[in-house]
Amino acid sequence: MPQVILQSLLDASREPIIATDPTLRIIATNEAAVRAFSRANMELRDRRLSEVIRDMRLHTSVQQALLEGVSSDIKIDFTAAELRHYDVHVSPIQLEGRQCSVSVFYDVTQIERLERVRQEFLSNISHELRTPLTSIMAFVETLEDGAIDDPESNRKFLGVIRRNAERMHTLISAILELSQIESGKVYIDKQSIRVSKVVDDIFQDLARNADERSIGLINDVPADARVEADVSRLEQMLTNLIDNAIKFNRDAGSVTVEYSRRPGMDLISVTDTGEGILAAHLPRVFERFYRADRSRSRDIGGTGLGLAIVKHLARLHGGDVSVSSELSRGTRFVIELPTGPDQPSS
Ligand code: ADP
Repeated sequence: MPQVILQSLLDASREPIIATDPTLRIIATNEAAVRAFSRANMELRDRRLSEVIRDMRLHTSVQQALLEGVSSDIKIDFTAAELRHYDVHVSPIQLEGRQCSVSVFYDVTQIERLERVRQEFLSNISHELRTPLTSIMAFVETLEDGAIDDPESNRKFLGVIRRNAERMHTLISAILELSQIESGKVYIDKQSIRVSKVVDDIFQDLARNADERSIGLINDVPADARVEADVSRLEQMLTNLIDNAIKFNRDAGSVTVEYSRRPGMDLISVTDTGEGILAAHLPRVFERFYRADRSRSRDIGGTGLGLAIVKHLARLHGGDVSVSSELSRGTRFVIELPTGPDQPSS
């Protein structure tokens, strides 16, 4: 087969491919290999394999292919712009009467990352469910051991059991909700919505929690401000943010909701006067199960999933959510939503 056709075939492969001669000098590569392993797009051909990829396992495998005619599968890490992981298949090939080697590199960075996320998610779920379940089991045992006949403690223990069961219920509902959103099964039905009205309704629903700690709820959204959104999903996003703003506030603090615009985007912000979030935690608060203060959040019934849900819903609208915070001064979350087609863009 003519050389050009061979080279085109190699270049058509998504996987980097490197062939060496018996002295471990590179005799053929493809474009994917240049993209993955060449610094400043330098030619790889005629260079020593160890100059390009410094990895003992690869070196040994290639030598085995050359000297013993043995194929092998290994894993290597390679850092170019970022660290990447490869599964490499190394095999011997006969080229022009010489024993040469060919290595095909499968980039498994993304697969490994997803696998890690999946494992973390499972272990987080198990952990989160085990805590209330352990408590339920302990109190059931105490009741069985005689506390059931003590009228004072049996009601109290049943109350604890109920609260923990409710916690598990909330958590499972949030997990199901998140998984539905993530699997793309949630349909966003955008309409023009008067934000101020939605905020009033949410304030009404959460007024008791705020009143208990004398937290002021301030709706600063102009009465005529409208956004394009799915009404129930907008309610859900704002409820999560306002609920957090109350939960993590100080007594007698305040929660303010405001509206503003920038070209192409409507912005709704929720600002509190609470304890704030450490800068180190800020980039991670939207991750599933991430909590800046684990025990505190759990004590006040948090699942660690609320903000992950807000992020997904904002993105489903074509927008986003961001956070800024100052320790012991407060936190501001801003939901951005693309302006509707019939509205002026600024
Ligand atoms: P949770 O159910 O724990 O509230 P979220 O996903 O809603 O879960 O929030 C994740 C974490 O982010 C919380 O546990 C808390 O540490 C932090 N957080 C969220 N909102 C605020 C806020 N307004 N002020 C301070 N910390 C906050």
